[in-house]
Amino acid sequence: MPSRRIPDLFRGAVITIDGPAGSGKSTTARLLAARLGFEYVDTGAMYRAVTLLADRLGTDLDREPDLEAVLKEMEGRFRTAQGDGGMRVYLGGEDVTDQIRTPRIDRLVSAVSAHPAVRAFLVKWQRQRAAAGNVVLEGRDTGTVVCPGGDAKIYLEASLGERARRRIRERGESDDARPLAQEEDNLQRRDRADSGRAHGPLRQAADAIVIDTSTLSIEEQVEAVFRACENRLRAKRGDG
Ligand code: C5P
Repeated sequence: MPSRRIPDLFRGAVITIDGPAGSGKSTTARLLAARLGFEYVDTGAMYRAVTLLADRLGTDLDREPDLEAVLKEMEGRFRTAQGDGGMRVYLGGEDVTDQIRTPRIDRLVSAVSAHPAVRAFLVKWQRQRAAAGNVVLEGRDTGTVVCPGGDAKIYLEASLGERARRRIRERGESDDARPLAQEEDNLQRRDRADSGRAHGPLRQAADAIVIDTSTLSIEEQVEAVFRACENRLRAKRGDG
């Protein structure tokens, strides 16, 4: 559990950070939550965990009733915990934090997350986590669907090339021309699927603060998001 003292201005706040894959959301959300003493909720990890379980069970990812059976399985098995490096994800007793981030799950997850039954199930869970405040939620629809009444909503973006480079480096691979082009293709495919779906698509909330992270270091990103939240909370609490 977070142990830092929460700054008075931020007490009870719900912060949402949305944006496309590779925009820096996870790292920023994790570091911001640690700085504020907040809980960090990685909503993408939840969609990934459903996808991993469905894949292991050999589920047809296009059939919603089959996915509903997977969700039932999830209910008894899924658990998260705050670890030093972010949110850890468990299925039963097994720590699957690394298994949910393979290229295979990257490829399959958008098909799973497009199903309304999957979204309704996970959104309910995410709202329960947000209800007590002192939380940073990160994903695609946290400011629009999960917590439309959030206190500070951030939308992060970055150029396609930079996002692809970050993903490759995260995996510890070299970013020479071919893998880079391939990663750009993968990201574009996932962006299209995530933005084009009918339920909970990736989009900016009308009152989101948009920050382009293409040229920012991680420290600069966290600082920019912290300041933006601070300004929004000051204005909201009537002393800005
Ligand atoms: O953020 P991350 O890349 O881990 O998200 C994995 C996938 O989970 C996304 O590509 C998207 O399909 C889905 N997702 C979603 N809604 C969220 C978070 C993630 O549909 N709030």
